[in-house]
Amino acid sequence: MILGGGFAGLGVVQFLTKANHSDLEIVLVDKKDFFIAPQNLYSLATSFKGSKSLAPAWYGKIFNNPNTVFVKKKITRIDPKENRVFFDDGSEYVAEYLVIALGSQNNSLNGSEFLFSIKSAGEALRLNRHLNEIFAKYKAASLEKQRQEFSVGIIGGGATGVEIAGKLISVIKKLAVTNHVNPRIPTISIYESKSEILNHLPGYVRKAADEELKNNKIIINNNCEIISVRKGMLENKGGAFFNCATPIFAGGVRAHDILMKSDMAVNPKGGLIVENDLSLKNYPKIFAVGDCTYAYDPESHKLAPDVISAALDQAEIVAENIVRRIQRRTPISYIVKRRDVFLSIGKRQISYMNGKKYQGFLASLYRKYYILKNLAKILPSGTAIGIWRKII
Ligand SMILES: Cc1cc2nc3c(=O)[nH]c(=O)nc-3n(C[C@H](O)[C@H](O)[C@H](O)COP(=O)(O)OP(=O)(O)OC[C@H]3O[C@@H](n4cnc5c(N)ncnc54)[C@H](O)[C@@H]3O)c2cc1C
Repeated sequence: MILGGGFAGLGVVQFLTKANHSDLEIVLVDKKDFFIAPQNLYSLATSFKGSKSLAPAWYGKIFNNPNTVFVKKKITRIDPKENRVFFDDGSEYVAEYLVIALGSQNNSLNGSEFLFSIKSAGEALRLNRHLNEIFAKYKAASLEKQRQEFSVGIIGGGATGVEIAGKLISVIKKLAVTNHVNPRIPTISIYESKSEILNHLPGYVRKAADEELKNNKIIINNNCEIISVRKGMLENKGGAFFNCATPIFAGGVRAHDILMKSDMAVNPKGGLIVENDLSLKNYPKIFAVGDCTYAYDPESHKLAPDVISAALDQAEIVAENIVRRIQRRTPISYIVKRRDVFLSIGKRQISYMNGKKYQGFLASLYRKYYILKNLAKILPSGTAIGIWRKII
């Protein structure tokens, strides 16, 4: 039973299907009945088409293998001692092998109820609606009121924060123009707790991103850790307050609530602590994969990043190790690989692959190829191409 149908969970389904082991019966469980590519969340949050820009892949249409079924249920708890999964409708299920692929949750902040986010389709659409509403509501307000109401603050200057800032540049400008608001009034600010945005990424990427954001008048507040949010206002650790009518959270993730309350070893900031073969310590028939995994590579001393390529690499290892466990063969180890970086900021494309720097057309081409290659690993080719065309 595979819990969660993101890149990680779907990856395990597809790699297990390819292994073609006749004894396998695969059950995929997710609380929603469609897969959505994370890149699609940006367009849902910022496109003028709103929910029409949703590009779902329905789980029921992905598998043409009678040994694979999809079940729509919300998981509430896992009992690792019995390989038992509990659902919110009161039902339970015991599987021979469990794969946990539940992703992560946003870190919480004081005043989380005021925050917007783009972690799910529902949250991205809520942000989209809100942006449209505030422009309609305050288009005739005083300059002072408009300055206050058209202030967008992004909490977190990682890749998600920077990319959403990039997407907002043109949408905010368009909203201003269509509502006859002076386009110089709205502001977009990034609040980053470290001394630089994108602090995990290579210097070349950081510099190019910083330059592009500043060229587009995005205000970058480094060394500015936001600790609480209230209506129209952000507060940082130093006690300073910032005007912000639309606070968008992109400030990091934590382990899923379900994992925290199940009896498994969890790093609260990362996820399930796993052995080299991605099984859980003391539970060789339970595996973890994707963003819900805290996978440390003792050889490279690297932690697996929360990105699609790592989720797919792990999915391949987990599928292989389930088959090996059934066949009583030695499992293989997961190795954290070097990571390519693709960043899209407004109209500028930046990428860093195999130590080489790319911008413009080539960077854009590589990014499009990377998105399609990953979608094709988890979806039938027609579905992958259809989604890819909608999100690039
Ligand atoms: C806006 C955004 C943009 C991103 N862009 C990129 C990018 O360009 N490149 C890149 O490499 N990475 C990107 N990422 C990161 C990337 O999305 C993740 O690393 C990757 O999707 C992890 O996949 P996953 O399957 O582990 O988790 P998820 O995709 O989070 O999947 C978890 C699944 O579990 C299901 N689930 C959760 N709780 C329950 C429950 N209680 N019951 C049942 N089902 C449940 C969810 O519905 C979901 O389908 C982005 C992330 C975001 C938020």
